[in-house]
Amino acid sequence: MEREDITRNSADIVIVGTGHGGAQAAIALRQQGHEGSILMIGRDTSPPYERPPLSKEYLAGDKGFERIMIRPEKFWADKKIDLRLGSGVVEIDPVAHTLTLSDGSVIGYRKLIWSGGGDPRRLGCAGANLKGVFYIRDKRDADAMMAALDAGSKRAVVIGGGYIGLEAAAVLRKLGSEVTLVETQDRVLARVAGEDLSRFYENEHRRQGVDVRLNTGVSEILGEEGRVSGVLLDSGDTVPCDMVVVGIGIVPAVAPLIAAGAAGSNGVDVDFCCRTTLDDIYAIGDCAAHANPYADNAVIRLESVQNAHDMANTVAKAIMGDKHDYEALPWFWSNQYDLKLQTAGLSLDYDETVLRGDPADRKFTVGYLKEGKPIAFDCVGTMKDYVQGRKMLEAGTEKIDRELLANPDIPIKELI
Ligand code: ADP
Repeated sequence: MEREDITRNSADIVIVGTGHGGAQAAIALRQQGHEGSILMIGRDTSPPYERPPLSKEYLAGDKGFERIMIRPEKFWADKKIDLRLGSGVVEIDPVAHTLTLSDGSVIGYRKLIWSGGGDPRRLGCAGANLKGVFYIRDKRDADAMMAALDAGSKRAVVIGGGYIGLEAAAVLRKLGSEVTLVETQDRVLARVAGEDLSRFYENEHRRQGVDVRLNTGVSEILGEEGRVSGVLLDSGDTVPCDMVVVGIGIVPAVAPLIAAGAAGSNGVDVDFCCRTTLDDIYAIGDCAAHANPYADNAVIRLESVQNAHDMANTVAKAIMGDKHDYEALPWFWSNQYDLKLQTAGLSLDYDETVLRGDPADRKFTVGYLKEGKPIAFDCVGTMKDYVQGRKMLEAGTEKIDRELLANPDIPIKELI
């Protein structure tokens, strides 16, 4: 890093967060022709990289760091995008248009893009700080877990049956660990998917040798000499282990914004072009609570690369004077074992599901309907359904014939 980057104390556009949202905002601003200075500030000590592989290919050792970097390191310097890594923002003065960093330095901005993401929700129980308890949010978390695996940790308890927990369980099985997965709800993926998908993944993990424990939380992490030795479940059972992997969601990282007066209860509130209620401050990605057209304009946060990326583009355009509402179709993917799941749309308040194909074939689609209108598709190994399902959602198809949708021999595009 050049000396001038370190001493710069103001920038035309300051971006907080070096994840997908922050990186894409900087890239898009340059693509849109922004010529002023851009400074990205992040707590992470590595230049921007993709997060999803941290619980998949990176954790499995199948992809090294070079292959998950969002751009080669040189790109940022070439585009005159300054990176200030290893620094957190502790305070914002929205009137003076300044930020204070954890090291006390003060940085001025004309426009601020907050892409702070979230911090992993921490376990609240006794023993949660023992050595051998891991979270998967950034590269350092994944590296620490990989080092423990290399050092011989072979028995893992994964806490949380969301995508992070399930993906970690799949990688751990692949690496030969014994895995127990603990989920408080009566099914995995309860927050994000319908029952068909939950039961399919539950069965798949059991088939792959994961001991799946539903309807139970964790009372205590047990330890010996400061290291994890087991997990005491609410059910009273003890599961001996030498590592615990926690994937129980995130807490949006917005404290300095809220303290500065920005509106927000679950994250920070943004309008249709990602403006917060504070002048010249935008927010994007996991922490941005927005009215989403694919959820009947309900105010939600979306924790996905798609959302971070598309919001970043919306903000870059807005700053360049080309205001468009954020209305991108939500999509997401998850790789577990040899299974590829792709989802399109938001199933949040569906009232009916249509199963297309047979989960026993490990290839099927779940269509989610609300008052007869298709609102989302979960596609396991059914790429065509995913592509055509996206088109259907974007087209806003109002009603669909359930029987035709349930027939995998009829392409979805014929139902649009
Ligand atoms: P992530 O993105 O980390 O996978 P989700 O919120 O999608 O986050 O999933 C987290 C899962 O963890 C949810 O299914 C939730 O019910 C479960 N969970 C939350 N707290 C606990 C806990 N203490 N023990 C077990 N499971 C938990």
